[in-house]
Amino acid sequence: MKGKKPRAFSRKEQSPPRAKDSGGARFSELAASLAEIGRGFHARGWALGTSGNFSVVIQREPLRLAITSTGLDKASLTPAQILEVDEAARVVRGRGRPSGETSIHLAIARVTGAGAVLHTHSVCSTVLSGLYAAKGGVLLEGYEMLKGLQGVTSHEHREWLPIVENSQDMARLSQTVAEILAQQPGIHGFLLRQHGLYTWATELAEAKRHVEILEFLAEVMVRSSALGHRG
Ligand SMILES: [Zn+2]
Repeated sequence: MKGKKPRAFSRKEQSPPRAKDSGGARFSELAASLAEIGRGFHARGWALGTSGNFSVVIQREPLRLAITSTGLDKASLTPAQILEVDEAARVVRGRGRPSGETSIHLAIARVTGAGAVLHTHSVCSTVLSGLYAAKGGVLLEGYEMLKGLQGVTSHEHREWLPIVENSQDMARLSQTVAEILAQQPGIHGFLLRQHGLYTWATELAEAKRHVEILEFLAEVMVRSSALGHRG
């Protein structure tokens, strides 16, 4: 019997039903990645105690970040300890208080257009920020590891790592950071004096790589200085 050829399912019909809260699924995924990165940084000695905070942009307009809540031991950071905040640092998802440095993360994401911002408190970045404070920053040049920074293709690259005076006045500090980023659009990070490193990138994985590169170079600079090689 000559029958009608069964109608092929269209791509649309084959696709699974859309999740009711697709934003929630994305948030969960990003929270899991941030928690994993935080535990890894603790293991490397870059976020000991409750230090360090990590964020990723969930959406741009209006700006929403997934960010670590405050006062957490990074050794046991879990996705449930990540919050979603709006552009005024108000919590819109999750329970807890956002990191005290949320306004700095928001300023970086806003001015640079970064998709992720990571902040560590390593021994070397703390020492380096004190050693070079009088110069206002550290010039990193000639190192092969510089090629790990987004857009850098040669060891001959000159990377200026500004040193910003530390403060507990977060509104003022985030304003200072926003001004520096607007004046020096090519930089990949900065140090807060005797505090730690901030870096960022388009994607979370790149920002994680930037932490590894800049922490490596901070250690190189500190060790070289101790040996009297540079400074
Ligand atoms: Zn800090």
